[in-house]
Amino acid sequence: MKTLLFDIDGTLLVTNDTGTRALKAVLMGDFGVKHPNMEVKFGGRTDRALLQELLLLNRIDATHANYVKFTAAYSAVLPRALGECGGLVLPGVTELLTRLGKRDDIRCLVMTGNLKATAREKLGYFRLLDYFDDIFGGDFDADRRHLARRTALFLRGIHGDQEGDGTVVIGDTPADIVCGLEINASVMGVCTGNFDRETLEQAGAHFVQQDLSDVDTVYDWLTQ
Ligand SMILES: [Mg+2]
Repeated sequence: MKTLLFDIDGTLLVTNDTGTRALKAVLMGDFGVKHPNMEVKFGGRTDRALLQELLLLNRIDATHANYVKFTAAYSAVLPRALGECGGLVLPGVTELLTRLGKRDDIRCLVMTGNLKATAREKLGYFRLLDYFDDIFGGDFDADRRHLARRTALFLRGIHGDQEGDGTVVIGDTPADIVCGLEINASVMGVCTGNFDRETLEQAGAHFVQQDLSDVDTVYDWLTQ
């Protein structure tokens, strides 16, 4: 059985500034911050790291209680923000996932920096949720490599998978590439986020595509 681990934002879909809008609304509405400081880097990071940084940046104690409050409120406001900001499923994604879904020797999962709850909301909103057996989210790990390790351990525990055992990571940022290499996976980069081919190749991607629209080529590489 081969396992494919897909990133979400910039890989399967784009949501414009949905996350920023939702997090800003939470800081204002739930934490009483009048003018939230949103000067953090979003791409490729886990929400664990991102949300903790946002709390500190806005002078809120990054306690466990505040983190839990932040994540719950973020998950509650995200559906409305998705409706307001729009966004789209990236080229080739639906066709690729449909084809992969017909294979019983391939398991499609999500490994993302998003919280598991908000990952479900995004995938559900764009009607992609049913293509995936499970979601490994960035709820617990500030370092994305730790998320990869946790995912690999889970796959070993549940399915008996060994590291590098036909696992493929697909993502749009150097952080995705690094996290795939961390667990000895094959790594595919896609340039539909904010990073170009050269950057993703330099990070160590084994295969890079501009987008997923050349479904035959991508399917062949993923299933080889
Ligand atoms: Mg991404």
